[in-house]
Amino acid sequence: DPGGNVRVVVRVRAFLPREINRNAECLIRMDPVSQLTTLMVPGDADQGNARARTRKVTEEKSFTFDNSFWSHDPADEHYATQEDVYDSLGEEFLDHNFEGYHTCIFAYGQTGSGKSYTMMGTPDQPGLIPRTCEDLFERIAAAQEETPNISYNVRVSYFEVYNEHVRDLLVPVVPNQPPYYLKIRESPTEGPYVKDLTEVPVRNIDEILRHMHVGDSSRTTASTKMNDTSSRSHAVFTIMLKQIHHDLETDETTERSSRIRLVDLAGSERAKSTEATGQRLREGSNINKSLTTLGRVIAALSDPKQQQQTPTHARSRSRPINKSNTVVPYRDSILTWLLKDSLGGNSKTAMIACIAPSDYEETLSTLRYADQAKRIRTRAVVNQDSIS
Ligand code: ADP
Ligand code: MG
Repeated sequence: DPGGNVRVVVRVRAFLPREINRNAECLIRMDPVSQLTTLMVPGDADQGNARARTRKVTEEKSFTFDNSFWSHDPADEHYATQEDVYDSLGEEFLDHNFEGYHTCIFAYGQTGSGKSYTMMGTPDQPGLIPRTCEDLFERIAAAQEETPNISYNVRVSYFEVYNEHVRDLLVPVVPNQPPYYLKIRESPTEGPYVKDLTEVPVRNIDEILRHMHVGDSSRTTASTKMNDTSSRSHAVFTIMLKQIHHDLETDETTERSSRIRLVDLAGSERAKSTEATGQRLREGSNINKSLTTLGRVIAALSDPKQQQQTPTHARSRSRPINKSNTVVPYRDSILTWLLKDSLGGNSKTAMIACIAPSDYEETLSTLRYADQAKRIRTRAVVNQDSIS
């Protein structure tokens, strides 16, 4: 289904030591069959009495997503591991990349909800990014055995958007030098792109993982200096896959290019415009323009009016109302401008809503955001060209 909806999944993490210490209660329930995710009202979750139950019915909130990953309790039979998340999302998206589609998976949620754990993971528990890299090169190795007339070309880039500036994470940070920022350009064929961004060719899993680590440590290096950058910055890891197919019978050469985008967004608490008063307003940069704009873009794209077809009487002009000629404020921020295609255009896209188990307000806001994103439709096409 090329005109598919944005795939939206939710994942809840385990308690952190600080939550165990304050005896936090888990406010999340997930039904493994219906995929229903329920947010309970604090104080109600563990009460057995009937009155509390009645109150629960009126105040708890339920949502359905394409998948709900229960990563709260490792002892539970439905516990979703890093591998489970890859198997039910990453693997299928990589299938699409080999078919020639662009894809984008982004992680949304408050700081500490598990975005980086889900995308990058830890050395022992690798996340979607390293697993995608590994699977990609395994598939290429297998294909080279079976179909020697296809050759493969893989390049990688990694940048972050911090305070409406783009920083190349594959360029080493020079000590005592101000960071340098890259500019955005827009090409009529390729759309918006980062000018002069490093794109490194990689030939195997070790090379790609090495660049992934370089970029990741560049992000963390900056964060210790600049007061928690990672909660304020959006990190975009991109793999470009090119498959060059030479047909021995017709002597034709075709090229399929796909782009795999894996995005670790800034903490969603940075988007709260309601907090833009008093102290927050004075601090100014606490409000993340890219994140608030992302919210507006998602709201515009999920508006039912966006999905409507042109009424019959207007057919002579034969222009369906589509996303490109209505006002979606992509250009109002760096992130949404760069991710324009991934959000409302040529891409198969998924959102992973990461939630903490014990934070009613932030979790409700994340679940509502995710619920809205479900209504967005993108229009992915196979990116294939004849080159001879
Ligand atoms: P974020 O990137 O959203 O700020 P992190 O990914 O850094 O959050 O997660 C916060 C903490 O919770 C980290 O210590 C991380 O290792 C841990 N964590 C997150 N998700 C999980 C999970 N599913 N299982 C185990 N630990 C997790
Ligand atoms: Mg993080």
